[in-house]
Amino acid sequence: MRILIVEDEAPLAEILRYNLEDEQFETAVARDGLEALIALDEQPPDLVVLDWMLPELSGLEVCRTMRRKPELRNIPVIMLTARSEEDDRVRGLDAGADDYLAKPFSPRELVARIRAVLRRAGNRLDAEPLCVGGVEMDLEQHRVRRGGREITLAPTEYRLLKVLMDRPGRVYSREQLLDLVWGRDIYIEPRTVDVHVRRLRKALNAVGDRDLIRTVRSAGYAFEPANA
Ligand code: CA
Repeated sequence: MRILIVEDEAPLAEILRYNLEDEQFETAVARDGLEALIALDEQPPDLVVLDWMLPELSGLEVCRTMRRKPELRNIPVIMLTARSEEDDRVRGLDAGADDYLAKPFSPRELVARIRAVLRRAGNRLDAEPLCVGGVEMDLEQHRVRRGGREITLAPTEYRLLKVLMDRPGRVYSREQLLDLVWGRDIYIEPRTVDVHVRRLRKALNAVGDRDLIRTVRSAGYAFEPANA
């Protein structure tokens, strides 16, 4: 699990990074709101710990921007703030934050909140089928349908499709897909990705169907619903 920490107070960012890595999370740190948006686009994390008071762009604005972008919409956000007014709490949650923590807090408290939010996000995502561009992925039953037609996929193709469908339109490089589908610790030739994309396309596209997987030259692949 990868967590993006957005915090301009360097000592606090460092404490959070240390504690989260101690809990086996991978971390990245952004020091202001604009840096956060760039980091989010480059490598979307599994969760964002977002300070409210930031230079350039406030945490509230970062959160609103995330909720407007389909590829970032489902990433959970925990807001941090020095203010503990009930009003602020409501504003934070209104902007789309999943939880809210007033400073000062203990790193243990934050870790507990992170685990709770990730658990809720996981449950929510697994309970609802993923439906994009006429393809329906039932994550509980591991079944895939396109326009009502049942599609049989091998486990690797299934995971590949899940990663691509989670963020429609986002272009993934072969290296990113290797990390996300096969895992970071395994060494596999980047070309292996092409083989599995070919198999996925073959399974997904019946004769006359539009190809939903876009090949982006020298960049990678993306799942493109028809109306994107
Ligand atoms: Ca701050």
